[in-house]
Amino acid sequence: MTRAAIPEKGRPAEDLLTEMESYGVDDVDFKGGRTWSMVYWAGDDHHAFLEKAHNLYMAGNALNPMAFKSLKRFEAEVVQMTASMLHGPESAVGTMTSGGTESILMAVKAYRDEARRKWPWIVRPQIVAPVTVHPAFDKACHYFGLQLKKVPVDADGIVDPRAMERAISRRTVLLVASAPQYAHGVVDPIPEIGAIAARRGLPLHVDACFGGFMLPWLERLGVQMPTWDFRVQGVTSISADLHKYGFAAKGASVVVYRDMDHLRHQFYVSVDWPGGIYASPSMAGTRPGGAIAAAWAALMVMGEDRYMEHAEAAWDVAERLRAGIDAMEGLRVMGRPMSTIVTWTSTEAGIDVYAVADQLVSKGWSVDRQQKPPSVHLTCNASNAEAVDTYLADLKEAVAHVRAHPELADEGEAAMYGLMSKIPIKGLVAPAVRQVMEQMYAPGALGTPDLSEGPAAPEGALGKVQKIAEDLFRRWNRARSTSKVVRP
Ligand SMILES: *Cc1c(COP(=O)(O)O)cnc(C)c1O
Repeated sequence: MTRAAIPEKGRPAEDLLTEMESYGVDDVDFKGGRTWSMVYWAGDDHHAFLEKAHNLYMAGNALNPMAFKSLKRFEAEVVQMTASMLHGPESAVGTMTSGGTESILMAVKAYRDEARRKWPWIVRPQIVAPVTVHPAFDKACHYFGLQLKKVPVDADGIVDPRAMERAISRRTVLLVASAPQYAHGVVDPIPEIGAIAARRGLPLHVDACFGGFMLPWLERLGVQMPTWDFRVQGVTSISADLHKYGFAAKGASVVVYRDMDHLRHQFYVSVDWPGGIYASPSMAGTRPGGAIAAAWAALMVMGEDRYMEHAEAAWDVAERLRAGIDAMEGLRVMGRPMSTIVTWTSTEAGIDVYAVADQLVSKGWSVDRQQKPPSVHLTCNASNAEAVDTYLADLKEAVAHVRAHPELADEGEAAMYGLMSKIPIKGLVAPAVRQVMEQMYAPGALGTPDLSEGPAAPEGALGKVQKIAEDLFRRWNRARSTSKVVRP
């Protein structure tokens, strides 16, 4: 085992920077437009500006707003600017967090604690949400001891509000909807869900982590979508990620509540620690000043005008993709055109989505495969504009190739994804993925495990599932890979 250790003597900074850059050569190429997720790239100039803004406050700690009045001000203004954009009432309040997941964790925790006060007889609190809500809600329920009741959606990913209402029980403490949901990019019917929430006296959290800083501009451009922000009376809180379409540095999101009656349940206070009285607004203890300052800087430098410009370009990318894909025989765009997410699936038995995906990967595209049904997901940005025509041409070729070679569905990655999406024994997948995680974080591990060297997978169904799970996990974590890095 070669385990890393701190060098005995510190090495020259310049050498290290060169070495560090070399570690990135295998990372996904997010500047060239061939990656459709994970990075929201607004260009080199914007990046250089963010770097400077981040560095000014990189050492700052927003855990103590008294000591860092600067950071308190940045955070307050970021929350206020977001609340204004989302048509929040004068009473709107909130905090910044490290990302969408933390914003969601905080909202779930706040409503759980609020419910404990209001409805102390509920011992097993429950959240009702469409099946398409982000897994951060499963995670929040897992962490905080709630149950997530999931309501099915139709073939376009749209939930029936009446089914949401029927799922409400005496244990329900929160309704959740998304604007838009990630898988198909549709905005849930929030006016109807909001009316149910108001009538039942339940809070409603809208997850706009993806769309928070995109949909307001699309709406102004005339894109048709349900109203989803604080204009819907039943909406009590919204999460919106600055590090997605806000074009901030990573580690920045906002959670905004209609008023302090909800936010106060997010705070944590401890008074008996020998170290003194400790109060913290969110999950984090030390809160990184750089991310907060860079988020403020991003909103200010972009302004409504540049957000609008980017939204128009990103929408154009999405519309060109939708038109091109819908014109292809055997494929269909899922959902409704309400956001900058494009999801396509197959309409022809002979065209296996995962086999087409394999073809796209071999042509150098980064592909996000989905399930239920098999589909491919694309997040559109202005930075993808130049790649659209090539993508459509490559996709067309890939479809034709798979049509001519249906056996490809049973080969390579497609076979594994195919089995995975049909597998009746899903209970076996999670333990297999956990096993891969243990390998990735094992003593001495540098990144993605080399599974070819690991112990042979067990025979039979479990072995198959394990292989699939391992493969999926490897892809999800490809960005972490350090496999080709040569250490000096
Ligand atoms: C990205 C996203 C999240 C989670 O945000 P992270 O910043 O990845 O933690 C939650 N909901 C939706 C709809 C998202 O797109």
